[in-house]
Formats: sequence, structure tokens, C-alpha cells
Amino acid sequence: APVIQVSQLTKRYRGKAAVDSLSFTVQPGRVTGFLGPNGAGKSTTMQLMLGLTRPDEGSATVGGRPYRELVQPLRTVGALLEARSVHPGRSAYHHLLWLAQSQRLPRRRVDEVLDLVGLGDVAHQRAGGFSLGMGQRLDIAAAMLGDPGVLLLDEPVNGLDPAGVRWIRDLMKRLAAEGRTVFVSSHLVNEMAVTADHLIVIGRGKLIADCPTVAFVADN
Ligand code: ADP
Ligand code: ADP
Repeated sequence: APVIQVSQLTKRYRGKAAVDSLSFTVQPGRVTGFLGPNGAGKSTTMQLMLGLTRPDEGSATVGGRPYRELVQPLRTVGALLEARSVHPGRSAYHHLLWLAQSQRLPRRRVDEVLDLVGLGDVAHQRAGGFSLGMGQRLDIAAAMLGDPGVLLLDEPVNGLDPAGVRWIRDLMKRLAAEGRTVFVSSHLVNEMAVTADHLIVIGRGKLIADCPTVAFVADN
């Protein structure tokens, strides 16, 4: 069964559609790439999926319900929208512990997510000394605190060096192999070609393609 369902979703800003009658579903156990140029409507779609802004028409459900109606949202969906950098003087460990406590999530998850993103060895160092890629991994660790089955990542590899890109790509593939639903946006065709199993391609808010990555790459 699809874990994410977007149906006839429309969002307008000052009368202009940022997302325009968009419909697609996302399946578990694979990485689904959400590909489109800057301004195509990817961030707006993800904000709609997370209930951060209201649609003008249509709906988006995650785990069978609109986000705002989820009983345990943090255990259902994790998201990386834009780098919310941790306070630079804080350690990764303290940042995650504070989040776990304020979200009433079990303390043991802090060590689990630090291991997941490979920051266990630097967990007690100042996060201000982290590279951009390590900062992104820390934000993904924060998104995974609730052990959600669905992960939404908005342009997670933007600006990273090749090693940082590879780290996050491998992490997304590992999470999908565990049966999670990974939905990742990017404007980089070549990056999505090697990361995603399936592609949802949009332009000007409208669906352009919804197909296995191999099929899209062969045609473009
Ligand atoms: P993408 O994530 O693909 O780059 P966005 O969803 O950020 O695309 O933007 C889609 C379109 O909607 C763009 O034209 C953008 O300028 C516009 N837009 C996005 N958010 C807002 C907003 N809060 N107010 C007005 N226009 C917006
Ligand atoms: P992205 O390409 O990842 O969407 P943007 O810089 O386009 O990054 O958007 C970052 C934030 O600014 C988003 O929350 C988006 O909704 C908002 N935004 C984008 N375009 C506009 C706009 N024209 N007016 C107001 N807010 C906007």
C-alpha cells in the first residue's frame, strides 16, 4: 500500500499555482526521488505533506492520514526541510538529547540515531566545528529520533562535497532497504539517477513523470 498519497493537490500564492493538481503515491522500501528545477514546487509540496501550509484544493496523506491528524506524528514521519543548524556551541549529543526530551521520545534513541548517521565518535564535540555534511547528518538524526517509517528530505545534498553526498545517498538507501519510505527532493538529475529507485518529476507545479528511475534515465 502507498505510504504517501497526494491527490489533486493545489497551492496558490497570490493567485499563481506553486503546486497544480498534483497527484502521485509513494511506496515503502525504496528511495523515491522528487525531481524538478528550482521553483518547481517541491518544497511547497513537502510543506503541504507536513501540514505546515494548507492546500487550496486536494489532499496529502502520510501513513493514511493528513499529517495534522496523525496520532504519533514523530513516530510516523521524519523530515529535513532546510538545515536548521544546531546551536554551534552545543554538542550533537546534547542537541539530540534536548530534542528527545522535549518530544517525549526515549533517551536510548539518541545513541541509536548517532550511530545511524555515523556521528557517534564526534557526538560530544561542538557542532559548530562540523562540516556541512555532518550538519546535514545531524539534522537527519534528529528527524529519525522517533524511529519513523517515512522520511521526507528536501534537497539534503545541496552544497555538499562528493564524500558528503555519498554518505547521505548511502544512508537513504540503507533506510529504504529496512523497509522505510524515503522521499527526497533534488534539482540534480544525475544525482537522482544514482540515488532513487523511482522518480516523481515535476515542473511548474505539475506532474511530468512518475516512473522507475531506469525508465526516466533511458528517455532523457
Ligand atoms: P522548489 O522547492 O521546487 O524550488 P518551491 O515550492 O519553493 O519550489 O516554490 C514553488 C513556487 O512557489 C516558486 O515560484 C516560489 O517562488 C513560490 N513560493 C513558494 N513559497 C512561497 C511563499 N511562501 N509565498 C509566495 N510564493 C511562494
Ligand atoms: P527551495 O528551492 O528549497 O524551495 P527557496 O529558497 O525557494 O528554497 O524557499 C525557501 C523558503 O522560502 C520556503 O519555505 C519557501 O516556501 C519560501 N519561499 C520561496 N519563494 C518565496 C516567495 N516568492 N515568497 C515568499 N516565500 C517564498
